[in-house]
Amino acid sequence: MPNVDTAIAMNKRTFIKLFAAMIASPVISPLFAWASSNKLKNWAGNLEYGTDRLYSANSLEQVRDYVKKQSKLKVLGTRHCFNNIADSTHNILSLKSMDEVVALDPEAHTVTVNAGITYGQLCPYLHTRGFALHNLASLPHISIAGACSTATHGSGEKNGNLATAVSALEIVTAAGEVVKLSRQIDGEAFRGAVVGLGALGVITKITLDVQPTFMMRQYVYENLPLSEMRDQFDAIESSAYSVSLFTDWQKQRINEVWIKSRVEEGQAFEATSEFFGAKRAIRNLHPIAELSAENCTEQMGVPGPWYERLPHFRMGFTPSAGKELQSEYFVPRRHAVEAILAVERLHDQVSPHLMISEIRAIAADNLWLSPCYEQPCVTIHFTWKQDWPAVRKLMPVIEKELAPFNARPHWGKLFTTSPAELKSIYKKIPEFVQLSKKYDPQGKFRNEFLNTNIFSS
Ligand SMILES: Cc1cc2nc3c(=O)[nH]c(=O)nc-3n(C[C@H](O)[C@H](O)[C@H](O)COP(=O)(O)OP(=O)(O)OC[C@H]3O[C@@H](n4cnc5c(N)ncnc54)[C@H](O)[C@@H]3O)c2cc1C
Repeated sequence: MPNVDTAIAMNKRTFIKLFAAMIASPVISPLFAWASSNKLKNWAGNLEYGTDRLYSANSLEQVRDYVKKQSKLKVLGTRHCFNNIADSTHNILSLKSMDEVVALDPEAHTVTVNAGITYGQLCPYLHTRGFALHNLASLPHISIAGACSTATHGSGEKNGNLATAVSALEIVTAAGEVVKLSRQIDGEAFRGAVVGLGALGVITKITLDVQPTFMMRQYVYENLPLSEMRDQFDAIESSAYSVSLFTDWQKQRINEVWIKSRVEEGQAFEATSEFFGAKRAIRNLHPIAELSAENCTEQMGVPGPWYERLPHFRMGFTPSAGKELQSEYFVPRRHAVEAILAVERLHDQVSPHLMISEIRAIAADNLWLSPCYEQPCVTIHFTWKQDWPAVRKLMPVIEKELAPFNARPHWGKLFTTSPAELKSIYKKIPEFVQLSKKYDPQGKFRNEFLNTNIFSS
């Protein structure tokens, strides 16, 4: 969600400038001893990374050499996580300059990319060559490696999260060896590695499934009564390729319903003026209706390529930083309505600290640490005002309400779910620990987040 904070925006520009300088360097070298006033922060600015030892690699060989020399490191993608999953107190490695498309294979319907590339860079390349990805997150500025490593998702009950498009990975292990894992050959090890939380090694290449390119239309409807959500949830979710419900939990309503449909589909969404009691908007809207929609993707049924409709925010718009916090919980689809109503009952506590909530549906998958592992899910997302003490107090309250539904938190957002609870709701954690130890026996890629949430028991 965009809410640009100028001071942090300046940090981002400095960051880009420094990375640009670094990319010009033929060898890996320490980037810059960050001045204390200019520490590297995540996108939201709520986390200052724990080291100023930043390195950029330009090639697989440089990654291997660097990994061999370090006893501890983390790879940093585009810094869009809200928690310390990407943090290190030792060394940070960036693959930002390794952002090329390696191969597009029209026969196999795959594209292989170097792991520093973002969706924003890849999507226009694919579209101009006649191809598309199955889905995108709310904004395209995130790295593919970072997004897949945390099971980032878009919406659409038939669409798996973004990691489900991964068909092969190239990983540099703690020993500096290059391992290739593919969906076709490596079965369970592959399914364990894709949503890898950065624990197995440095992903240097990713192969993704592609499909023929397609056009989409987007319509927004306003003020869907909560009673319609309760009684017609399945009909609402199945009405289009991608459906997002935005609510501030006030006035017993879903403020906005965003409907994204494929133009050439047999059953394209029919844009009636009413949708389950909601009224079709007569202008482009931001998810928070009071904010300007100029950074939002085109609505009002105007057809456009998939990558300019699936995200809510436009590719050309560069969100430097966001004065917000985010948390998100995945509940099994069968409990969706009950779970949404449970959060609604907390509206007096939630609304004062909230910018907006979004509810999305995601298909089941078979990736070990995916929150949608073997269950279709609905996600309840919270974009909070940047008031950490208030959010920290609220999260356990929400988690308690959602506990009966075995709600799984998003790996890249804020949560207070205990490691023991995580272990009980992410059944594959023990196998994941074993798999990680195979590629990283000494814990070179582990950090506080992983030690606490994954490796503590
Ligand atoms: C404004 C905003 C909107 C968002 N919208 C959505 C949304 O719609 N849906 C959703 O699900 N999430 C969303 N997110 C969350 C976010 O996209 C994810 O959490 C994602 O991980 C961000 O990718 P990144 O590269 O920025 O990750 P980073 O924070 O840089 O890294 C995340 C993890 O990936 C690892 N990693 C990164 N690159 C590599 C690599 N090459 N090899 C090994 N490990 C690697 C890191 O070590 C770390 O563990 C949003 C976040 C923001 C700020």
